[in-house]
Parts: sequence; structure tokens; C-alpha cells
Amino acid sequence: MTVWSCLTCGIEYPDAVMSPDCCLICTDERQYVPPTGQQWVTQQQLESRHAFTLTEVEPRLHSIEVTPAFGIGHRPLVVSTDGGNLVWEPSGFLSPGLVDAIRNLGPVVAISASHPHLTGASISLSHALGGVPVYVNADDRRWVCRPDDVIEFWTDRLDITAGLSLVQAGGHFPGSSVAHWAGGAGGRGVLLSGDTVMVSADLRSVSFMRSYPNNIPLSARSVRKIAAALAPLDYDRIRGAFGTAIQADSRQLVEDSANRYIGWLTDAIRDPDERL
Ligand SMILES: [Zn+2]
Ligand SMILES: [Zn+2]
Repeated sequence: MTVWSCLTCGIEYPDAVMSPDCCLICTDERQYVPPTGQQWVTQQQLESRHAFTLTEVEPRLHSIEVTPAFGIGHRPLVVSTDGGNLVWEPSGFLSPGLVDAIRNLGPVVAISASHPHLTGASISLSHALGGVPVYVNADDRRWVCRPDDVIEFWTDRLDITAGLSLVQAGGHFPGSSVAHWAGGAGGRGVLLSGDTVMVSADLRSVSFMRSYPNNIPLSARSVRKIAAALAPLDYDRIRGAFGTAIQADSRQLVEDSANRYIGWLTDAIRDPDERL
């Protein structure tokens, strides 16, 4: 039996002799099947093609970069707390060396992702670490590609350890969430935002989308809901899924960005050069 992973999104499927017919994630309107068609790989094949680097990006937070990039190409994060570690947005690539590197950072007590696109090889990683719980938001239950007993469903808010929580905000997926790490950024608080809140290229604003590759926007109602879910959280820094970060003032910038987005959707904002 073989664990097959989708080449485009990097997400793993159940042990099977034959690869699945199609990828549940990539055939959804938020993702895509490339013109070359659906392809599958095994972890053994990936091990010979990819390597990883582990970098401490701030005290008690490590980033993992897989090179060359695989699947969606996001960078997993490992948050270390006194109550144990969280692996956030696991990669689709997993090797014995990567498992050892994660284990060497301290005991992993939770594996989770902001939404189904960034779950990678979360079940294989859990098994390699002795059955660590993989937390999946219950509103995204139907997107689970590899059902397993290590999955635990949650809604609204889940406290992982003291000062480290998952918070559901919705939007990109109904169960889209962020990880709120109160002790990050020297105690000013960090939001690990995934695709729930996308760090923009100017590093001074964020955006929100139903689909990033296919450019499908969210409704004003959804953006208001995200902003309301994040408003009670204390944080100064945001770290996105692809290595980018807004270092300070992020809470205000998220509020401003949400208002700007809603303004464009509702015609409350117009380009001053537009002829009316
Ligand atoms: Zn896929
Ligand atoms: Zn996504």
C-alpha cells in the first residue's frame, strides 16, 4: 500500500494500491488542476527530489522551507511554548530528517493548518511523531482527504497551550482559522494567518479571498466576519504562510484593510480619476 500525494497541492490521500482518480482539493473552484493533468507522487519519490532548511525566525518560532518548493509551496512553522509545540501548516514533503528536526525542537502536542489547502502530510507527520492530534475545523470536515483517528475536530476557538490558540474566522473556507500566539513578537503577540488573512506585497496591508489562484473575491459579509473574529485578539505581528510578515501595527492594518476591501465591494470607495 502507498500513501499518494497530489503533485499540485501536496496533500496526502489514504494508503491504497492505486492512486486516487482525482484530487478533491484541486478540482474545487478555489484550486486548479494544471494543463498537464492530475499527477501523484509518493514520499519516497519526494525524498530524492527535495530538501529542507529549518530557520529560527524569532525566538521560539522556526520556519521550514522545502526546496525546490513542492505543492502549494508554503512554509510550515513550529511554535515552541512551555506546554509543548505546534506544527502549523505542515508541508506535503516529509522525510526522516525533517521529522527528526521537528522532534529536536521539543515535544509536539498539536498539528494544525489554517485551512484544507495547507494540511500537506499532516497525518503522516502525526504518525511519525507517535499519534499527535491533528486539529481540523469541523466546518471543513468534508475536505479531509485522508481520514484518520488522529484527527480531532474543533470549532470557534481551541486553546492548544497557555498563550497559543486556534481561532476560527471563516472566509476563504468556512473553517478558515488563524493561530494566535500571545507570547510571540517579544510578548506583543503574533498571528499566524495562513490564507485566512493574506499578507500583501507592500507589507503594510492584507487581503482576503475565496480563491487566490483563481482571483475569486469574498463578500463584504465574509470580510466583516473575519474582522470581527480577529478584533478581540491582541497581536502586533502577522506571519503569512509563504515567509512574509508584517512586523508591527498589524491589528490596525487588518482593520484598515478590511474596511478598504468592503469599501471597494460596496462602491463606498471609488478611484478619484474615474469619470462618473
Ligand atoms: Zn491536489
Ligand atoms: Zn488556500
